[in-house]
Amino acid sequence: MNLVRRFLTENDCYKANAKMKPQGIMVHSTATPGVKNDGWFKAWNKSGISKCVHAFVDSESVMQTLPWDTVGWHSGVGSKGKSQNANNTGFIGFEICEPAGHGYSGGTMTNYSTEKNQSYFDAVYSASVELCAYLCKEFNISTDKIICHSEGHSLGIASNHSDVMQWFPKHNKSMDTFRADVKNLLNGEVKMRRFKLKEEMNFRKTPNGEKIGAIPEGAVVSGTVLEENRGILWLKTTYNGKEGFVAVLPESKNYAQEIFEADDSVLKQELEEYKAKCAELEEKIEQIKAILK
Ligand SMILES: [Zn+2]
Repeated sequence: MNLVRRFLTENDCYKANAKMKPQGIMVHSTATPGVKNDGWFKAWNKSGISKCVHAFVDSESVMQTLPWDTVGWHSGVGSKGKSQNANNTGFIGFEICEPAGHGYSGGTMTNYSTEKNQSYFDAVYSASVELCAYLCKEFNISTDKIICHSEGHSLGIASNHSDVMQWFPKHNKSMDTFRADVKNLLNGEVKMRRFKLKEEMNFRKTPNGEKIGAIPEGAVVSGTVLEENRGILWLKTTYNGKEGFVAVLPESKNYAQEIFEADDSVLKQELEEYKAKCAELEEKIEQIKAILK
């Protein structure tokens, strides 16, 4: 992450300089195709804008535009009223700049090319993950307090906007994958996720794509990548020498049980029990061999 500080000193929000203790993070996207950090700086560094965020992210840099502990003007007001909105309850807000080339119909993107924009998206997504990891660490914010504008609306603390869920799913990402990626980064590694299947599951070439096999109930699958497709999270894994995807989350679907690191002891114990059983069977084989001789 290339963090550049360029405060919007002429913006009324910067001048108001109300202070807060950061408690959460709200992720936005601009809904303005093609305008990048520089463009936003020029457009918003003046009075009368009545909007302001703490940062903008494009593929080149993260531009910090407000001190992190200044109350921002980014969430609007939701059903819980002004005093409970994200701005007034300690949410840092940042905007991800969108690439050029698409349009909008209401809150929905039109003519958006996933293929053409993949590398731009990868760059801003990972810079945003890094920014959130940095802020979580700096202000001791839990990753479940990272929400997007549309989630804020559902929670009653933001106006009715669709960002960022009008965009992330086009690249098989969601706020769930985003929070998980921030968490992984904070843990200092890309963590292996493990799931024990609760039923026989299809093994597919891509999320929801061509079937290349089936994985039996009880099998443990592992991998580091989760991709979303229509509300289902698919784990990228290897099975029978083939690489593919298996649906594992959300929990409510009951496809699989995630095995957390803390449960390693359970698996280790299971391994020891199986090893003992194997030794026992080998001994029996030797006995039978001796009789048959
Ligand atoms: Zn927004």
